[in-house]
Parts: sequence; C-alpha cells; structure tokens
Amino acid sequence: PRNLNETLLESVQRYPEKTALVHGDEWVIYKELEEQVNSAAYQLKNHYGVKKGDRVALLLMNGTPFVVGVFAALRIGAIAVPLNTKLKSKELEFMLTNSGAKVLIANKEWWPNLENIMDHISVETCFITDKRPPDGTLPFTKLTEKKVNEQVFKNVNEHDPAFIMYTSGTTGTPKGALISHFNMIHTIQNYKYCYNLSSSDSTVVAVPVFHITGLAAQLMTFIYLGGKIVLMPMFKPVSFLEILQNEKITHVIASPTVYVMTLQQPDYQKYDVSHFRVGGFGGAPMPSDTLKGLKNWVPDIKLHNTYGLTETTSPVTIMPDEHQLNHVSSVGVATPVTEARVVDPEKRHDLAPGEVGELLFKGPMVIGKYWNNEKATRKSFQDGWFSTGDLAKIDDQGFITIMDRIKDMVNRGGEKIFSVEVEDVLYSNPKIAEVAIVGVPNEKYGEVVKACIVPRYDEIITEDEVKDWVRKHLAKFKIPEYVEFVDVLPRNPNGKVVKTELRYVPEVSKN
Ligand code: ATP
Repeated sequence: PRNLNETLLESVQRYPEKTALVHGDEWVIYKELEEQVNSAAYQLKNHYGVKKGDRVALLLMNGTPFVVGVFAALRIGAIAVPLNTKLKSKELEFMLTNSGAKVLIANKEWWPNLENIMDHISVETCFITDKRPPDGTLPFTKLTEKKVNEQVFKNVNEHDPAFIMYTSGTTGTPKGALISHFNMIHTIQNYKYCYNLSSSDSTVVAVPVFHITGLAAQLMTFIYLGGKIVLMPMFKPVSFLEILQNEKITHVIASPTVYVMTLQQPDYQKYDVSHFRVGGFGGAPMPSDTLKGLKNWVPDIKLHNTYGLTETTSPVTIMPDEHQLNHVSSVGVATPVTEARVVDPEKRHDLAPGEVGELLFKGPMVIGKYWNNEKATRKSFQDGWFSTGDLAKIDDQGFITIMDRIKDMVNRGGEKIFSVEVEDVLYSNPKIAEVAIVGVPNEKYGEVVKACIVPRYDEIITEDEVKDWVRKHLAKFKIPEYVEFVDVLPRNPNGKVVKTELRYVPEVSKN
C-alpha cells in the first residue's frame, strides 16, 4: 500500500467478513467498518466542508468512533489529530489552536473540559459520541447513520501528512509531530517484520490509541494485516486477562506498567493464555522481575523490548527474543530500515562503541518536522538526523542501552510529563518562591512526579494546596505524588538546580 487508505481497503477486500474491532460486547467486521468510514468521510466532505489538508481532532478513548473518525479523515486527505483524553482545558486549547482543527469528535465525558474553550478555538463542528449531545454540538451518529453507496476517495500521496501527534515539549509548549502516510506505512511494515505478524494474529489495545504505540504498533498495523483488534477503553488487569483468554489474543504491545499490574493479580496464572505468542513492551524501562515473570507464565512467548518516540512513529529498535533475558537493560538493536548514532551532546561528533552520548535516529519512520513550530524543528532535526534527548550507548554488536535523559522529563508509566510545564503552573502560585519537579522511583509506574517547593517568606502552603493548584490547571497524571518543602534548592555554580540531588522519595511529606 502507498497510503493508509489502501491498507484498510485491501483488508476489506481480502477479509470482508472477518472481525476487525471488538469493543465491549460490540464487534465490527471489516466490511462494516468500511461502510462506517465511507459514510463518515462522505459527510465530513460534503456536509461539514472538510477538505484535503484540514485537521480533524479526536478526543476519544479507545473505541470504534476513534477508528472510524481517523480513517474517515484520512480518506478525504485530512489530517487526524488524536488528543490525550486526560488533558484539561488549558492544554486542549493550545493543541486545538495550534493544529487549527476544523472538526472535533469527542466523548461526552470530556465535554466539561471543552465547553469553556469552544468560543476561542477554530473548531466549526463538534461531534459528541452520545445520543443527546450538549447544545451546539451534533451526535457522532450523524456521520455514520446514513449508508452511502458512492465510494468516497481523495487522491492521497505517500508523503502527505496523516497525523499530528502532540508530545510534551522541553519549553513547556507541546510540539505537534507531523506523521506522514509514508512514515506510518514504514512503521507498519517494520513492525510486521520484526514481530513476525500475519492476518491470523489478534491484539488487545490496553494502552491509549491517542499515543503512538497504541496507534501505530497496534491499530494501524492490525488494520493493515486484517487482524482482530480488541479495544480496551480503560486498562484493568482482570479484564485484560479475560480478554487474553477469551479472545485468544496472540499479540500485545504495552507499557511496562500493564505487565507489572497484570502479574500483580494474585490469580493471573489461572487464565489460559496459550495463544499469547508475542509480547512487546516499550515507552519506559521494564523491571527485570516482570520480564522473568512473563517468561515463567508463558514459556513459549517471544518477548521484545522496543524503543521509540512519537517523532519516530515509534518502534525504531527491537530486542531479538533470544537476547532478551541476557540483555534486560538494553532496548535492542536499530530496526532494519533505521540507522542509530550516539554523538557528543555538545560537539555532535560520533562516539566510540560503549561511550555515552545523545542518541540520534534516521530512517523512513522518522518524521521530517513539527507542525507549525519551525524553531523546534530546527533544533531537533539536523541533516536528516533526529535528536532524541536520551543519553545512550551502543555496544560493538549494535545493542543500544538508554542511560539517562537530557530532556527534563518524568516518565510515569509511559505517560511523559515535562518538568517545566508543572513548574510553570506552580510558579504562578503566589505562595511559592521556588519549585523543582523531578521523577522519583515507583514500583508500578517506574517513575512518579515529586515537587520540591520553597515557600515564599512568611507564607504557609500545604501539600494539598500544592496538589490542588496543579489539579486545577493540568491533567491528573501531572499532579505530584510527593511534595517536599525545602529551605533552598540545591544549585550548581551556574545557578542551575541540581535535580539529581532531589530524586529521592521523601520519608514523610512535611509542611
Ligand atoms: P507511547 O507514549 O505510546 O508509549 P513512546 O514512549 O514510544 O510512546 P514518547 O511518548 O514520544 O513515545 O516517549 C519517548 C520517550 O520514552 C523516549 O525518548 C524515552 O525516554 C522513553 N522510552 C521509549 N521507549 C523506551 C524503552 N523501551 N525503554 C526505556 N525508555 C523508553
């Protein structure tokens, strides 16, 4: 296929009666999925004025409307903009304004976060997945209820943009990674090859489809394969185990947290998971005990660590299963179509095997630019190489190990939080003089947020006040788990906060 529209159309032709999506007790076969996509594309184009290159934003949890919305947008050459459903108004307003979305499709649950920003954004039509949508919006079924016999089609070139995916930014401003059809097609084929997947495989999406792993490595790949996709609106270990068993799932890729929580279920071994043959993980470091636990549970399973970023349309490394248990801390080798380099972070010259420097990637899955953000593009993309902001080493056999981060970020179970964003919000509190946000170790999430606060002279601020302040402005996962009050922040001679000295769990959060 040359573009993502052809991936769906080819699967519909080959497997019209096969199950495409399972979502709760609803299931959709490929032929029906195509009918819904075609109807929605027709309506968007003919009734809501969506043209090639326009942006269609989606604020949807895992479910059929997300899949229909994405493919309908792509069918008419529009760009899909999946948004994180956990975000608050302020965060959403930025992304909707930056992308200039003309249409928005959202679950009713998230309406309270949209209601007060609708007048300030470019969205002309908002569809809500509910029979009784709020005033000023339309029900999502308006897009799908009428069957359209005419095949809607718009010529899409392989280098046309398909998605804008927002990643948090080092400056506190999210950056929209512009992913083309070409990038995504290469990710799909790369993933199919590395994971040895076919149309008889089935996957369960336990991570959100608005992040790159769920979107690219699961949804897009399995539509191309013509495989079955089970969508979980929210990850719950027991439902996950039931789905693995009852749907005879063969493939999973998820954040380490999904596996950690599954193996914490006291009775996980009673489930029959004999079809589960390939398990991928990435987005954050995997605890070695969980890895061993997985091998003990499903002895024949092939396990693969994969490393990727939104900007690389995810997986750019793969750990071959036979090496996985001997290289628990490595993320594997660069995938066949990808090149990796480690350079001196300042002077940018190549380093010798084993030396630690910044990790760079090049290849057909790596995007070319950020949407509407030339400055960030210039900074991250030089001579075709993308700078990851991760510190890594590559050994003489090509195994890559992530050592630390240059970017000041907390990785909470795969959900990325840029420190500066939370710091900015806390600095706007009049009782706070200074603040530093760091990640501290946590068994379930790998890392969680800790806020170190210097209160203003003569002011008293409590832990709850700090948390509430963040809660008011930012998504829940960005609220500090720990708050520590200190008299001064440790600083180096240049005045920069030495965050490594703060990365410990405080015994008791003191006021
Ligand atoms: P997702 O949000 O779908 O998990 P992702 O993790 O592939 O996607 P980003 O959210 O852009 O992509 O985060 C990329 C960062 O995540 C990397 O720069 C790195 O710090 C971290 N990361 C990704 N994969 C791994 C891995 N396998 N092991 C350790 N850290 C990883």
